[in-house]
Amino acid sequence: MNEIPYKIYLSEEEMPKQWYNVRADMKTDHQPILHPGTLQPVVLDDLTGIFCTELAKQELNREDRFIDIPGEILDFYRMYRPSPLVRAYCLEKELDTPAKIYYKFEGSNTSGSHKLNSAVAQAYYAKKQGLTGLTTETGAGQWGTALSMACAYFGLDLKVYMVKNSIEKKPYRKMVMETYGANVCPSPSNTTEVGRKILDEFPDTTGSLGCAISEAVETAVTTEKTRYVLGSVLDQVLLHQSIIGLETKIAADKYDIIPDILIGCAGGGSNFGGLISAYMGDKLHGKKAPYFIAVEPASCPTLTRGRYAYDFCDTGKVTPLAKMYTLGSGFIPSGIHAGGLRYHGMSPIISQLYEDGYIDEARAVKQTECFAAAVQFARTEGILPAPESSHAIKAAVDEALKCKLSGEQKTIIFGLSGTGYFDMLAYQEYNSGKMQDYMPTDEDLEKGFAALPKV
Ligand SMILES: *Cc1c(COP(=O)(O)O)cnc(C)c1O
Repeated sequence: MNEIPYKIYLSEEEMPKQWYNVRADMKTDHQPILHPGTLQPVVLDDLTGIFCTELAKQELNREDRFIDIPGEILDFYRMYRPSPLVRAYCLEKELDTPAKIYYKFEGSNTSGSHKLNSAVAQAYYAKKQGLTGLTTETGAGQWGTALSMACAYFGLDLKVYMVKNSIEKKPYRKMVMETYGANVCPSPSNTTEVGRKILDEFPDTTGSLGCAISEAVETAVTTEKTRYVLGSVLDQVLLHQSIIGLETKIAADKYDIIPDILIGCAGGGSNFGGLISAYMGDKLHGKKAPYFIAVEPASCPTLTRGRYAYDFCDTGKVTPLAKMYTLGSGFIPSGIHAGGLRYHGMSPIISQLYEDGYIDEARAVKQTECFAAAVQFARTEGILPAPESSHAIKAAVDEALKCKLSGEQKTIIFGLSGTGYFDMLAYQEYNSGKMQDYMPTDEDLEKGFAALPKV
C-alpha cells in the first residue's frame, strides 16, 4: 500500500471527466415530476420555459449512466478542483478514537461551498443557449455567491432573491454577490406578484427558501432570455455534484482506503447525494458499500419526520410537484443558522433511495450540538466549518466515539461541504451561550402535512 498522505490531492489528469447519473442505476426510479397545472408528468416542453434546455434534458435523463463534462466546465473546475480528501488526525487524537476519520473538503473556493460545482455547469449551459440572464434564490448565501461567480465568468446577468432572514444575518454575503455583479433582492419582496401575496398574508415573515424560489421563477418566466436555476434538490444538481463522490472514491481507492461509513449533511440533498454517488453506484450493482448517513437539523427534519408525498418545491406553488420527503411547502422552519438546511423538501433521488433502504440512516441533530462539534473541529483541524457542514461533523464525531467504546477501527468519511466565515453571528451566539434549539411539535408538522396537495 502507498503511504497515505495527510491530504490526498488528485492530479488534474485524475479529475473525473464525466458526471455520474445515479438515476440510471436506481432499482426504482423516483416518481415523475408533475406539471403544477395539469398534474401530469412533465415533458421537456413544460420545463424549457423555466430551465435551460440542456439542463431540462438532464433533469429527465434516466438512461445515460455517465455524462461528459464539457471542456469549458472542466477548465473552470481546474481552478479549484480536484478538492482534497483529508485525514483528520488531530480530531482523531482529540477524540482518542481508533476510528480513522477523513473529510472531503469542498470549501476552498470563494463561495465557500460545494455549490460552485453545479453553478458553473448551469451558467455554462445558459450561455451556450444564448440566454442573457438567470434568476435564483439563495438561503444562506452560498448558492447565490457560487452562481454570481459562475455568471461573472460567463458574462450573464443574475438576479438573486435572498431570504430576508439571511440578508440580515449575513450582510457580507450580499456584498460578495454584488462584487461579482449580481443584483440581490431580499425575499419576500414587492417586486413579484407572489412576493406581494406572501407579504399581504404574512407581513412579518422573515422569508423562506420556498418563497424565494417562487419569486425567482416568476421573474425568470416574465423576463426575456432569462431562465431560473436551482442550487439543490433537482436531479441535474445531484448529477453535477457527483464529482465530489467520484473524486472521493478515486482518492480513496488510490490508497486502499475503504470507508465503512459515509456521512453528509442534507438540506436539499445535493452535497450528500454527490458525496455518496460513486459508492451508491457500487451498492446498486450489488457490491459492498459503506453505511450511508444523511444528517439534517432537528428543526427541519425532512427525512426523519417528513412524509413521502407529492409536494410543490416552493411556497407559492408555481413550480412542478415532486414526490419527495417533505414537511409541506407551507412549512417555514425556525430561523436556525444552518440556512442551507432550511428547506421543506428533499431531492427526489435521495428520497427514493432512502425509501428503498439504500440510504441506511437519516439522523436529526440539534444546532447547539452541531456548533459544539464545529468548534471542536475548528480548534483541532483548523478549518472553520459552515453551520450546515457541522451537522456532518457532529455525526462523524459521534460515530468515532462509538468506535472508542467498541474498539472498532472503522473508517469514516464525511463531507465538509463548506466554510463558515460569513456565519460569525451564529458562532458568536453559540460562544456566548445564547444559542437555542428549536424542534417543531407534532402539531406544527401536522399543519404542514394537512396542506399537502392531494395527488
Ligand atoms: C447549501 C449547502 C448545504 C445544503 O444543501 P445540500 O443541497 O443539501 O447540499 C450544505 N452545506 C453547505 C456548505 C451549503 O452551502
